[in-house]
Amino acid sequence: MENEALYSREREEMVREQIERRHVRDARVLTAMRAVPRHLFVTQEYQGQAYDDCPLPIAQSQTISQPYMVAVMSSLLELQGTERVLEIGTGSGYQAAVLARLAAEVHTVERHPQLATAARQVLNSLSVRNVVVHCGDGSLGWPSYAPYQGIMVTAATPGLAQALLEQLADGGFLVAPVGGHGSQDLQRWQRVGARFEMESIFPVAFVPLRGEGGWKEGEW
Ligand code: SAM
Repeated sequence: MENEALYSREREEMVREQIERRHVRDARVLTAMRAVPRHLFVTQEYQGQAYDDCPLPIAQSQTISQPYMVAVMSSLLELQGTERVLEIGTGSGYQAAVLARLAAEVHTVERHPQLATAARQVLNSLSVRNVVVHCGDGSLGWPSYAPYQGIMVTAATPGLAQALLEQLADGGFLVAPVGGHGSQDLQRWQRVGARFEMESIFPVAFVPLRGEGGWKEGEW
């Protein structure tokens, strides 16, 4: 209980100092970031650092993204609460838990079965009922539940496949880090009828998206 009170204070400070101070204004995103217990999405070893301003290691040499990045990417989707959303790269499940508070239905895809299982478990333990964790290659999206009013790719992609863009609903936003090892361009795409408009946000550094539409082993 004492620990929970401490984590709650740390989370509040995280939102104030790392997120509000850097001008994330979406009130629904700030509320979600205040509510989701990030320390439960990392192993015990990293729980003391769960509210630090950085990504942290998870299993399979992957990472849980920096809290600020989760907040920015979430706010770029401009969700109102009624949407069906796709996340590619479940990792720990933390981003999906934040999206669950911002949208009606979240589909998230993870290629590592061990991560998908762990994410399901933690989401279940938190009674998050509107997230479905799929296990497989999400690099070309997850067409069975398309269209999505928001799509978020949380691993670096060499480019955005047409097949993925086409799963976006009219007016919806897709956010993805596009580029190679070291640094990528965080891009936001909006579908406007048959057209896709792109906006470049800022440079970011993510682990690679693998699979058919992602980076091949020898390329990264
Ligand atoms: N959103 C995650 C979170 O909140 O913890 C962090 C995601 S981590 C930066 C990127 C994740 O993308 C990794 O877990 C990795 O295994 C996954 N990934 C990479 N390529 C993928 C693919 N083709 N399909 C699904 N997941 C993929």
